[in-house]
Amino acid sequence: MSLNQSVSNGAKSLTQLARSPLSGLSVCIVGAGPAGVYTALQCWRKGHSVRILERSPVARTQGDFFMIAPQVVNHIKTWPDMAEENDRISVNPRISFHRSTGEVISGPSPFRLDNGDATAALDPATRFHFHHRPKFLQMLVSQLERIGIQIEYGCRTTEYYEETEKAGVRLDDGRNVEADVVVAADGIGTKSHKLVNGQEIRAWPSGLAGFRAAFPVAVIADDAEISERTKILDDGHPHFQLFNGAGLHMTMMRTEDTMTWGMTHKDTGTAAESWYANVDPAAVMDFVSTIPSFPPFAKRLVQATPKDAIVDWKIMWRNPQPRTVSPLGRVVQVGDAAHTLLPSSMNGANQALEDAIYLATCLELGGKENVHGSTQVHNKLRFERVSCCQKLGFVNLAKRSNGDAKTTNAKTTKDLKPEQGRWLWKHEPEKYVYENFAKALDHVQEGAPFQNTNIPPGYVHEEWFVDELMARVEKNEPLDLGGDWS
Ligand SMILES: Cc1cc2nc3c(=O)[nH]c(=O)nc-3n(C[C@H](O)[C@H](O)[C@H](O)COP(=O)(O)OP(=O)(O)OC[C@H]3O[C@@H](n4cnc5c(N)ncnc54)[C@H](O)[C@@H]3O)c2cc1C
Repeated sequence: MSLNQSVSNGAKSLTQLARSPLSGLSVCIVGAGPAGVYTALQCWRKGHSVRILERSPVARTQGDFFMIAPQVVNHIKTWPDMAEENDRISVNPRISFHRSTGEVISGPSPFRLDNGDATAALDPATRFHFHHRPKFLQMLVSQLERIGIQIEYGCRTTEYYEETEKAGVRLDDGRNVEADVVVAADGIGTKSHKLVNGQEIRAWPSGLAGFRAAFPVAVIADDAEISERTKILDDGHPHFQLFNGAGLHMTMMRTEDTMTWGMTHKDTGTAAESWYANVDPAAVMDFVSTIPSFPPFAKRLVQATPKDAIVDWKIMWRNPQPRTVSPLGRVVQVGDAAHTLLPSSMNGANQALEDAIYLATCLELGGKENVHGSTQVHNKLRFERVSCCQKLGFVNLAKRSNGDAKTTNAKTTKDLKPEQGRWLWKHEPEKYVYENFAKALDHVQEGAPFQNTNIPPGYVHEEWFVDELMARVEKNEPLDLGGDWS
């Protein structure tokens, strides 16, 4: 879509959207997932010129639902066209907690990140933004098109390189694309490790996988019990149901048009890292048959799910990577290329979008002449926060840990409600960079003291390893995090 078209379509962007003065900085972004597209948007807004390359031939259309958190929702609201769209295309479900038999523990009630604290007056904390992934991504891509940037599809990057004054990528068709800064937003299998980290840092299978399904509600319309048990509530809110018991962690929700469910299970080697590698409902039933208490209506829900609507997502992880910037500072990893987060952190996409905001703002403040300093500051400001977010995934996994039937059946709502501390959702990423850039630059360039404040108050960062934390979760040992994670 051309700029003229977007204006004639009534977009507010070009008339109401403040754009920083042109920086003269060119940015090439690899990957058009949430991290890449939001980096493109934010970089444009900060006055940089932007190209975005994606290996897929077309935009992604598959996927289930994910939670977009207040610190990101608040930022999206700064884009006039997306402020309303983000509310409209997301759902705000009521949550209920159940045992594996279906017995209700509590709810349905509103999900409040602030735990009902009346002093925590941050509006999005009282409104849950639960998004259908493809629709969320499409919202970002449409905004990109309105500002005149087209994603270049069918461009598969094979290698990253840099020189003192520029960086580049090689594509599999033999072309090179160069810019002042190259952003690796190419997900968990990024090709940037060799340059940035000096070696491949492969993510390894966690031993866990997630069945995820999303399909039209019409499919279950004829089953009266499923329809009744998943119906939109009388107050108009969808009903998000969480079932937890020995061997089981399942979620289900129905919106006006889509039925979705998810189930975590031990990976027996069949799971894949793809939204396109579908599994047959029979494979899910094999797993379900190991849980005697599984409610009959939920079994029928699984059985009714169309074959092309279920994926079995292999959950991968890497240890925290303190270095996400290349030696000359011109190639920067963001999102899943920079870190892996357990789905139980509920924050993979949120961290991806925070990365985008941090990086674009750092590049604005450092300018064309100080790319190396800007990208070092980006790395400094984000790393400890992301590392805390990674730990949070283990905290939530441990809370709902369901190996022991006796303790699992005694769990209450408090045990099962995922932790999302204030340090996470009260954060204002762009403001944080404006307030801390100069001090952090002194730190990375001159060694001046600097302490991040975007982590749980009182928490002191120390190196940690996934295997150690997972071993503690499996033995039901406390994680001893230190600091205030509430
Ligand atoms: C089961 C599951 C549940 C989740 N639930 C949540 C949740 O509730 N909340 C949340 O915040 N997050 C959640 N996440 C995490 C979230 O989905 C990811 O963290 C997020 O999608 C990362 O975005 P990204 O843009 O970094 O990577 P991706 O979404 O992986 O995008 C990377 C893009 O790069 C492209 N690409 C890859 N290689 C190349 C190449 N060589 N050349 C060019 N392009 C390339 C890919 O095609 C893709 O479009 C969940 C993840 C999973 C698997």
